[in-house]
Amino acid sequence: MRIAVIGAGIAGATSAYYLARAGHEVVVLDNQHRAGFGTSFANGGQLSYSYVEPMASPDLLPKLPRIVMGLDPAYVMTRLFDVQLMFWGIKFLGQCTGAHYQANARKLFGLAVQSKAALHRILDDCLLEFDYSRTGKLVLYPDEPSLDRAAESIELKREFQIRQEKLSRAECVAREPALAGFRGDFAGGLFAEGDEAGDAGQFCRALLAHCQARLGVAVRNDFQVLRIVREGDRVAHLQTSDGLFHADHFVLAAGPAAVDLGRTAGLRLPIYPIKGYSITLPAEAAAPAVSITHVGHKVVFCKLGGRMRVAGFAEFARENRALVYDRIRALATLSQRLFPEACDYRGALNGWAGERPMTPDGLPIVGPSKLKNLSLNVGHGMFGWTLSCGASERLAEGLRA
Ligand SMILES: Cc1cc2nc3c(=O)[nH]c(=O)nc-3n(C[C@H](O)[C@H](O)[C@H](O)COP(=O)(O)OP(=O)(O)OC[C@H]3O[C@@H](n4cnc5c(N)ncnc54)[C@H](O)[C@@H]3O)c2cc1C
Repeated sequence: MRIAVIGAGIAGATSAYYLARAGHEVVVLDNQHRAGFGTSFANGGQLSYSYVEPMASPDLLPKLPRIVMGLDPAYVMTRLFDVQLMFWGIKFLGQCTGAHYQANARKLFGLAVQSKAALHRILDDCLLEFDYSRTGKLVLYPDEPSLDRAAESIELKREFQIRQEKLSRAECVAREPALAGFRGDFAGGLFAEGDEAGDAGQFCRALLAHCQARLGVAVRNDFQVLRIVREGDRVAHLQTSDGLFHADHFVLAAGPAAVDLGRTAGLRLPIYPIKGYSITLPAEAAAPAVSITHVGHKVVFCKLGGRMRVAGFAEFARENRALVYDRIRALATLSQRLFPEACDYRGALNGWAGERPMTPDGLPIVGPSKLKNLSLNVGHGMFGWTLSCGASERLAEGLRA
């Protein structure tokens, strides 16, 4: 089958790989100059297999008034009266029950485990060059009650062969000596030795280069899909910046833009873009090798080769795609206060903003759509880098040549 994949982010690149391996003729269409320049470009870099719990949880409910009133600095609400946010928010609140949380977390852990194995097979198969390490991840908690509560999930993760251990503050420092220079409060943390880190943007480009060279995949950059033109229960063709585009089958993997593109074909995708920010700085000798998430500050520190990626913020700001320099500065100030010796703060900040394509339940939407020749690989939210290899493997299994 000739398949057009719309989007060359992590979801599109991995879809192209699996579909081409399954024997399809694949062409990837992307509106950027190079692959991996959307949300996958400068994300937190963490392959957080042990930490993919959905955001919608009973624990979040008591915190919502503070978030909505703008009193939690990790969340920014710039447009409260946004109809799409209101509809999405109602669905999100519906997922905050204990039963939904447990069911969604199980599905996410299952996909995360599949994704890790899938990524390892890709790396064995393709010998890709990108910044990547298997140094584990530490999630730091500000106080004992939050640490104890988080540790309750260790048992559930064990069912999925995901190993995480609860460490005191001193044990965290013994595990990652760079934490001796960490100035933020933390009572202890959960350490997952099996978690990894990598540059998702570099990975997209390296994987697609492999797909072009070895699997016959065609990649069209600077190629804007304007509309998915429908005829009855099928996609007839795409209307693009380069005229009409035909294929037997289409995969929508356009990240946050999938909502607007899907709408042109009559699909209503329950995805809301939650913006986040990152800075990338030269790493110092005192930088942590283990990647670190501080739950209190909702900030991530991740070493990628000789660079430190610091990421954070959740901003509900649809249609406000501008890079907000105040947030970049705030992230840099927070990072310097928490981890003064980890990065060379005199270097260029390389600030970036991206939109996490969030579904209410935290699960990506992967598989057939209501149109017979259109599949979806969208809604990867906070964990697209962690989940995409497994998601795309599943997508391709459903589309055997
Ligand atoms: C600050 C931040 C930190 C994050 N940290 C992590 C992390 O540590 N670990 C993790 O697992 N995940 C993380 N994520 C989430 C992760 O980055 C996303 O889930 C993932 O990148 C989504 O990938 P995607 O391929 O679906 O979308 P994208 O990467 O956005 O790819 C979609 C592609 O489609 C193209 N496109 C869009 N519209 C069109 C069109 N009309 N025509 C043609 N092409 C089009 C875009 O140019 C883009 O290249 C983070 C996200 C953010 C914002």
